[in-house]
Amino acid sequence: MRNIIFVLFFLCCCSTKQISQPVDYITPAKILSEVTFLASDAMQGRYYRSNEARIAANHIAESWKNSGLVPLPNQNSMYLPIEDLRAAPNVAAMLQGTGSDFVLITAHYDHLKPRKSGTDKIYNGADDNASGTAALIVIADALSKLQTTPEASIVLVAFTGEEAGLVGSEHFANTSPIPVHRIRALLNLDMISRGERNTIFLEGAPDAPRISLAINKANTKVGLHIIKNKHPEWLQRSDQAPFLERGVPSVFLSVEDHEDYHRVTDHTDKILPDLAAKTAQLSFLAAIDLANGVP
Ligand SMILES: [Zn+2]
Repeated sequence: MRNIIFVLFFLCCCSTKQISQPVDYITPAKILSEVTFLASDAMQGRYYRSNEARIAANHIAESWKNSGLVPLPNQNSMYLPIEDLRAAPNVAAMLQGTGSDFVLITAHYDHLKPRKSGTDKIYNGADDNASGTAALIVIADALSKLQTTPEASIVLVAFTGEEAGLVGSEHFANTSPIPVHRIRALLNLDMISRGERNTIFLEGAPDAPRISLAINKANTKVGLHIIKNKHPEWLQRSDQAPFLERGVPSVFLSVEDHEDYHRVTDHTDKILPDLAAKTAQLSFLAAIDLANGVP
């Protein structure tokens, strides 16, 4: 009898251990699989005015739909076209919260058009920014596993035309489908898979104390080496800029420029899927905290 009780107890413990937290659905393997697709030669560098950028947009929207995300309020599609009709659209979706605030996690999915000469003509943009885009896709998967509805809606936005001068994010901020003053926080991910293993840079924290707190708290579970406020000039150079201009508390997560930055050699085999996965986990946990805590 004692033996049976022991066996039952043992089985119980084991099965409890196997129950994963939503954050555990964000894995390096999934990140790598997404980057492999987005940065493949077939995607031709995802230039924002290309058919391949539309294929990427479609892939993002389909993945989010499969994770149970829905279009933003008053939108019947996850595609948010910009004025330039040659351009692939912004893509946005959310996990609906119980309240009327929003927490945004964003990343641009476009990169550069192929160059005219050279043996390798394709700017694959594996780190820039297939890595951030992959994070958005895998974060949606984790969102779908949440047991309780957060208070603020958690919105994922994949921007078009970042490389052409923040075209997609400017358009979104200008014609925002959600009230800008209702955005509690924005976390932008652009290049999150190169450099030193386990090290990510965080910009914008001093002006966003609530986000900074949420990131610190999240990092007790993730264990990244976070270097803060080393490159404040970066705040102007990616998609958080138009939102900062409009007073939205925003931070930027990125790695340092590397030898393959904006070169045709920004290839998938050079990325650190583990770093991108941890940065995605950090953003996911911080977003949940921001969506539930005191704004
Ligand atoms: Zn970028």
